[in-house]
Amino acid sequence: MKSYFGRFIPLLFIVALAFILGNAFILFTSVHDLITDERLVVHTHEVLSEIDAGFSTLKEAESAQRAYIITTLDMYLQHFHVSSELVSYHLKLLKNMTIDYPLQQKNLSILTKKTNERLALLKNGITARQTTGFDAAAQMLETGRGASKMQEIQSVISDMEKEETRLLKARADQSQISVDELYSAITIALFFEIFFILISFFFIKREFDQRTLSEQRKNDFISIASHELKTPITSMSVFTDLLKKRMGPLKDKQAIHYIQKIREQIQKQTSLINDLLDISKMQAGKIDLHKEPFDIDKLVKETVEVVQTTTKTHKLIIKGRVRNKVFGDKQRIGQVLINFLSNAIKYSPKANRVIITLKKERRTVIVSIQDFGIGIARKHHKKIFTRFYRAREEDQSFPGLGIGLYITFEIIRRHEGKVWVESAAGKGAKFAFTLPIATYI
Ligand code: ADP
Repeated sequence: MKSYFGRFIPLLFIVALAFILGNAFILFTSVHDLITDERLVVHTHEVLSEIDAGFSTLKEAESAQRAYIITTLDMYLQHFHVSSELVSYHLKLLKNMTIDYPLQQKNLSILTKKTNERLALLKNGITARQTTGFDAAAQMLETGRGASKMQEIQSVISDMEKEETRLLKARADQSQISVDELYSAITIALFFEIFFILISFFFIKREFDQRTLSEQRKNDFISIASHELKTPITSMSVFTDLLKKRMGPLKDKQAIHYIQKIREQIQKQTSLINDLLDISKMQAGKIDLHKEPFDIDKLVKETVEVVQTTTKTHKLIIKGRVRNKVFGDKQRIGQVLINFLSNAIKYSPKANRVIITLKKERRTVIVSIQDFGIGIARKHHKKIFTRFYRAREEDQSFPGLGIGLYITFEIIRRHEGKVWVESAAGKGAKFAFTLPIATYI
């Protein structure tokens, strides 16, 4: 059952998830805004340098025209034409770059008009030089119309630059705001994430502590209850023996039969209590193993003989011998064998045999117990070795608590061995385990 704090954990995770998603959204939009602002800042710089480039080219056209008037060299005439073309090109570029900004478009159309007028004046000067001669051309220069046109152009350019500088500042400010927002979002996100981690840690630890405590209490209860149950059972066993002795001479067969039944039940009860005690010892890590080299062939033979006396329906057949000693706790391995054998008999009510195979593989011995009973579906294979797990909970025809295989698994694990099952539903089951062969130094 979940504790009071345990109930909050899923809620906490939902809130944390919602928060992380919200946070991711804010971060995404902040980064997106920042990139857009940065692009706008770069764009403003480009417009400004384009205005500069256009004006410098116009000045180059002016210088080329003057050089031509003085020298009449074709080279200067060509330079003038190229520069004039370039000026138009720069103006076109600027038009495209400021297309979404009406104020700059308006300034640009004034700039284009005045620039074209200036270029026309320059061309007139060249024509005067070509048709009438140097003096006429020089006279035209002296009128000062060109200089005043250049001033007008410069004033429009200065307006445009001012506007772009204002835009640049506004965009840089906006960009700074986006950076600040991003920092704030990251800081808040970090703060909340740390908060959620701490609070989750707190809840999970509380839950874990409470579970450990209740697990501890459960184990203590099993241990105490098993000990308490053992005392009356032992007395019952002693008194039954005494009763049997007294009944013996009377030769009351019926009474002796009943006493035998009581003894069998006491035996079952004792082994159940021992299993429960083993579980609590295993949980507490207190199980003691007395390992020594022992003859596994002999142990299997003896155990099979004992178990054979408990069944009239099944024949227990041993196949193979290993002729090697294994290293382990003989009594505990005997318990493992009894567990597998009694399960094999219990879960194969319609069969009449169980096969026990012994074989050696490298430095290990493999013991397998095969029955021809109800089998186990694959999905249960791993789980049946866990505590209290039963593959057919709903099937009441096989009594049990689901602890035998858990104990078996734990015993073999403590012998550095492996346990596994090969089975399918309705196809019988083959349980196997390995043990290390004893080595002598
Ligand atoms: P129990 O037999 O008391 O339920 P175990 O731990 O010995 O407990 O076995 C766990 C489960 O594994 C059983 O409930 C049963 O479903 C399954 N099982 C064990 N041995 C066999 C077998 N030989 N054939 C079919 N099922 C088995």
